[in-house]
Amino acid sequence: MGKVLIIGAGGVGNVVAQKCASRPEVFDEICLASRTLEKCEMIAAEIDRPIKTQQINADNTAEVVTLIKKFKPELIINVALPYQDLSIMDACLATGINYLDTANYEPPDEAKFCYKWQWDYQDRFKEKGVMALLGSGFDPGVTNVFCAYAMKHYFDEIHAIDIMDCNGGSHGEAFATNFNPEINIREITQRGKFWGKGKWIETDPLSVHKTFDFPGIGSREMYLMYHEELESLVKNIKGLKRIRFWMTFGEEYLTHLRVLQNVGMTRIDTVKYDGHDIVPLKFLKTVLPEPSSLGENYKGKTNIGCLIRGVKDGEPAEVYIYNVCDHAECYKEVKSQAIAYTTGVPAMIGAMLMMTGVWSGKGVFNMEDLDPDPFMEKLNIYGLPWVARQDNPGE
Ligand code: NDP
Repeated sequence: MGKVLIIGAGGVGNVVAQKCASRPEVFDEICLASRTLEKCEMIAAEIDRPIKTQQINADNTAEVVTLIKKFKPELIINVALPYQDLSIMDACLATGINYLDTANYEPPDEAKFCYKWQWDYQDRFKEKGVMALLGSGFDPGVTNVFCAYAMKHYFDEIHAIDIMDCNGGSHGEAFATNFNPEINIREITQRGKFWGKGKWIETDPLSVHKTFDFPGIGSREMYLMYHEELESLVKNIKGLKRIRFWMTFGEEYLTHLRVLQNVGMTRIDTVKYDGHDIVPLKFLKTVLPEPSSLGENYKGKTNIGCLIRGVKDGEPAEVYIYNVCDHAECYKEVKSQAIAYTTGVPAMIGAMLMMTGVWSGKGVFNMEDLDPDPFMEKLNIYGLPWVARQDNPGE
């Protein structure tokens, strides 16, 4: 039993708060802190046990330290934005408490994410005797655990991984993103990148695509993108010859995105408007639907999984491990769409494993560094059941 401090009261923060609150034997006290207090209070009002709420600017390490000293949590679950990762990690180091997030650090003024900034904390977390768990969402997160589980149970060597993220749902809006619009659009407008034949290969944004028949959804067009778990999996899955990440997009979504890019609305530099400095992408975020508001009308399913090939007992082997999640079912349970649900549940599970000492250590960890079995078991219990198929679905 222990106290957990959740930072970020968006779509994902809502799911994490509700799921943690449903396990009082692990999370006996919860504080939800975020930039806008009312959002914390709205979430707290939906939860059938009391949780604390607090306004905080998590860019400011001193403010986070003050809150830690006041609330005295064992762990911080950071589900604010990637921009806050380092300031919150600094506060954890200063106070000697554990840290978990779902997305790696990004500098606000450059659309570039990589683990270097957070891996650089390795020695300091080790010396302080505290643990940081990076990327405990779905992708990254569950996808890393699927790969670690496959390595442990299905292969002697893994040679190729395709991580495939399909949202087959429909929210009824002309254009909306399923998680924070600013972070999402920065990610998908980047150049594509994959690991092949021992090196990184770049591609033009969303220029490589193919169809795949997703169980529970059907055939969809998926596009090659760079995604953060590729960086840690290339380092941690030995002998890997190729790893790629794919995400499905509909024609309507891609057309809107192209127009927004062409007219400059996805720019992240500052422009003058009416005497004020504004960043077009931040302005765009303010006029797009809040991802947390999409749940009510969302229909359909997501399917996110890993198609993995390699060798077992000298023979070629293949496994496809995936989860199918239903938007409407998520809304019924926690008033959330499936993207926030599939991120928030793994964050709660990672936190639960850390709080109960099942996952422990000193230093900075990616998900595949830890024993996948207890995490896989809890996915089935807490709402994200998975399937492992060995019948060559990739053929
Ligand atoms: P939202 O934008 O809905 O929520 C982010 C929350 O963080 C908001 O409540 C926001 O406050 C708060 N926040 C922002 N800046 C600060 C700050 N300086 N101090 C305190 N609070 C702050 O995003 P999502 O819930 O959609 O996403 C949350 C995180 O989850 C993101 O990092 C995202 O990248 C990650 N993610 C990971 C996935 C995975 O599978 N691994 C998938 C999807 C998302 P305010 O309400 O005032 O804006």
